[in-house]
Amino acid sequence: MTRSPVWHPFTQHGLQEPIPMVERAEGASLYTADGRRIVDAISSWWVVTHGHGHPRIIAAIADQAQKLDHVIFAGWTHEPAETLARELVALTGLPYAFFSDSGSTCVEVALKMALGYWAHRGEARHRIIVMQHSYHGDTIGTMSVGERGVYNAAYAPLLFDVGEVPFPHPQAEQATYDALEAECRSGAAAFIVEPLVLGAGGMLMYPPHVLAEMARICAAYGVLFIADEVMTGWGRTGTLLACERAEVSPDILCLAKGITGGSIPLAVTMASAPIYDAHYSTDRAKTFYHSSSYTANPIACAAAVANIAVWRDEPVAQRIATLAAQQAEGAAMLACLPGIENVRHCGTILALDYAVGQGAGYLSDLQPRLLAFFRERDLLVRPLGNTAYLLPPYGISAEDLCSLHTALAEAVGLLA
Ligand code: PMP
Repeated sequence: MTRSPVWHPFTQHGLQEPIPMVERAEGASLYTADGRRIVDAISSWWVVTHGHGHPRIIAAIADQAQKLDHVIFAGWTHEPAETLARELVALTGLPYAFFSDSGSTCVEVALKMALGYWAHRGEARHRIIVMQHSYHGDTIGTMSVGERGVYNAAYAPLLFDVGEVPFPHPQAEQATYDALEAECRSGAAAFIVEPLVLGAGGMLMYPPHVLAEMARICAAYGVLFIADEVMTGWGRTGTLLACERAEVSPDILCLAKGITGGSIPLAVTMASAPIYDAHYSTDRAKTFYHSSSYTANPIACAAAVANIAVWRDEPVAQRIATLAAQQAEGAAMLACLPGIENVRHCGTILALDYAVGQGAGYLSDLQPRLLAFFRERDLLVRPLGNTAYLLPPYGISAEDLCSLHTALAEAVGLLA
């Protein structure tokens, strides 16, 4: 067979890892060309919420594609975007919706909105505050506000400087608050944070009261609070938004991945009235200069409208609660096993670290062996170094989830 010209993301082709061909998907299952059924334990990179191929979302995509496939969104509009924006305003409490097409772009938009807000008010505030171990995307701007590490070392000369606060480890939260307060006092523009769970940074979790306190500190200094709910949104942490758990309303909110139920790319940056108003003017120089060709693609917007209808009409909250309870049981079982450390769960997400001592971290030697171990069992689990996690679609069966918990337990054998 000739070598494929496809260059895959986050894939070291030099290691010659097998790249299965997926033909079809349904619920939590992927079906490969060689006849295997794979359990998608990570919702295909955290995007699929209800399950692959939700009939109502797929029907909305097909229907919209017949009517209006695409239209420029600068100065033009369409019904799916208008309906979706109204729905999002009702769900988030933020009055303005700016569409884009990926998690990275909606975060870029958030950063530009925050800087635009200060610039148009005539205040020189540029500094962005971030949390240690954060991840917000792979563009230059979003890498700048993320943890510096192996995935962006080559581009370090291009990344801009930020203020960093330590991750709020239990009993060390005060250090986070103090660092945040110091950064706020020195006139930062905004603080960007992943609420409750830092995803790519290792599924690190902190409680709602810490999120609430960080939001309070920002508000006290007029520093804009940006919630990046690209991963945590759409039910992952137990509620529609993780911010709800802390009763926090951010100034800017980033949503992507699960906004279409995981069917088709779309993202949105929701903004408060002061952010919009700072750009609202008869002065063309204050226009928000951000766009991409497919902004608010009608097919993607129709998929998102259908997704919100699924949330409204189906017992999604109940499915999430059931999955969360099963994950809590799995976590309790796994926490008893030697070789497994820091078992944690938040809503539908379960994570743990395999005890590798000095060999911990993103480039841990254990990672490729774990990947192969799960692949041999037809399970799509993609560990972050020596950290393994399950972040499945809400419709996963109890049997599939149970086999995932068992596999996590059996993987301890790799440590021997
Ligand atoms: N923010 C967070 C919190 C994320 O987890 C991710 C992706 N994993 C992104 C932003 C970037 O999203 P995308 O890959 O869609 O650009």
